[in-house]
Amino acid sequence: MTSRVVVTGGAGFLGSHLCETLLARGDTVVAVDNLCTGRVSNVAALQDNPRFTLVTADVVDGLQIDGPVDTVLHFASPASPVDYLRLPIETLRVGSQGTMHALDLARDKAARFVLASTSEVYGDPEIHPQREDYWGNVNPVGPRGVYDEAKRFGEAMTMAYRATYGVDTAIVRIFNTFGPRMRPNDGRAIPNFIRQALAGEPVTVSGDGLQTRSICYVDDLVAGIVALADSSEPGPINIGNPHEISMLDLAGWVVKLTNSRSPVVHIERPVDDPTVRRPDATKAQQVLGWSPRVEIEDGLERTIAWFRKHEVADQALSPE
Ligand code: NAD
Ligand code: UDP
Repeated sequence: MTSRVVVTGGAGFLGSHLCETLLARGDTVVAVDNLCTGRVSNVAALQDNPRFTLVTADVVDGLQIDGPVDTVLHFASPASPVDYLRLPIETLRVGSQGTMHALDLARDKAARFVLASTSEVYGDPEIHPQREDYWGNVNPVGPRGVYDEAKRFGEAMTMAYRATYGVDTAIVRIFNTFGPRMRPNDGRAIPNFIRQALAGEPVTVSGDGLQTRSICYVDDLVAGIVALADSSEPGPINIGNPHEISMLDLAGWVVKLTNSRSPVVHIERPVDDPTVRRPDATKAQQVLGWSPRVEIEDGLERTIAWFRKHEVADQALSPE
């Protein structure tokens, strides 16, 4: 059965891929976005579809949608460390007030609600890999606290709406995801490395580069989110590719795949930068039958191909 879905943050990287997938299977989609880190160009190809609407609005100001709504996917929030450090109060507001408004919409419409939470709720983890029952190691007063605590508040608020009002909620903890439509200058490692390698500039690895992340191609991530939205699982549930890689190896891989001559240079490591991160994805496998399919090299090649084609135009359109 097709449904009407509200996607907050629908003009962002993940949100736009979600909108595209939902439209392709016949759903009607209302994307709500204030474009603080998203771009209209991300959804330009969807604008001719009569089942797609983009509403330019800030979810912190409220979220009123006419007509029935079956599902609310709450993805609005700056997500790159560079973005949320530039927008600290906005990040706290969208994670708190914005999440409450999205939950109120789900409550009003008797809709299913999915919160886009993050592996950052585990902070700099002392347990490796991270399972959903690990409570995390977050510095609330460090620079990343604005993002981590906003998401942790969002999770608590989601559980409170579920317990108090019976809203059909789900929490997904998303691990590092990459793919086409990341802004070349959003500051995250993969778009930085690809942009730098394609431009022949030094590829900037922070610290010694031995810190790890586990990176998931966007198509796999979206499949997991849709499976969760279609289920009655409340979560929290990790969605991410357990393929763990050091940032130094990742930089080397990008240089090789781009046939670049860029040198790798080391820059200062950000404060509270997590040392390791890898999902235990057992729950997603067992509950949703989900596991990632796209090999990392294949995903990197697809992403590099997209950057080669779009980089110049994208930089011109970027909010910075
Ligand atoms: P993104 O910055 O590309 O997209 C976020 C979108 O939300 C943007 O289009 C932005 O304009 C919009 N937005 C922000 N504040 C808003 C507000 N107040 N009102 C309306 N719209 C607003 O980031 P992304 O990588 O696509 O991340 C999407 C979501 O997934 C975020 O909630 C993020 O925390 C979560 N997440 C992403 C990753 C990842 O690896 N990409 C990992 C963990 C969690
Ligand atoms: N990083 C890096 N060079 C860059 C950007 C990031 O080495 O140009 C590092 C960053 O310090 C972190 C890792 O790459 O250790 C992942 O950073 P990203 O911002 O992509 O994601 P997050 O820290 O949110 O997991």
